[in-house]
Amino acid sequence: MAMRMLFIIIPLVAFSYQWPMFDQYGNADNKIVISGFGAYRPYYNGMEEHFHAGIDIPEQENAQMLELYIWPIDYAIVVRITGVAPNQHVTIQHYNSQFTTPKEEGSTYRHVTAICDVGETLTLDNPVANGWDMHHEHLHLEYRVPGTLADYKNPFTITELQIEDNTAPTLCRGDFHFVSGNS
Ligand SMILES: [Zn+2]
Repeated sequence: MAMRMLFIIIPLVAFSYQWPMFDQYGNADNKIVISGFGAYRPYYNGMEEHFHAGIDIPEQENAQMLELYIWPIDYAIVVRITGVAPNQHVTIQHYNSQFTTPKEEGSTYRHVTAICDVGETLTLDNPVANGWDMHHEHLHLEYRVPGTLADYKNPFTITELQIEDNTAPTLCRGDFHFVSGNS
């Protein structure tokens, strides 16, 4: 009996992350990535060489008609919005669900049209951006420490952001080819 009580009490730890896209029924949707995290990208079309600092998630079909938005992956306060729609970059500082304690991490949503304001408090039900007309038809999501240039974290270390990896790479002329490439 005492053991049973313990199991009831223990699990209420507030890990609050969520995937940033949902379908019209409220299910986490589009759990698809078209990039990995940290891949090397050489100089291309005026863009300096760099390591990919986030993950790319494709825009959902009929997102405008179905009013599908981009949601924060955690409770947060908006700290910075730069760029010009539809290629704005929104950075948020994560908080606990009571907004009393900032967390070490935050997240950035690139290639979007923002529908939040700097200083705004975001619960998991307050959208960050439109889910349509995204620059290059994808969301670039970074999990990082806001305000730092280098401290990018791997989004796949968050359970809620992990995706099923069920596509085996095929070997081709000595290179690995993946169905989900980098773009
Ligand atoms: Zn990207």
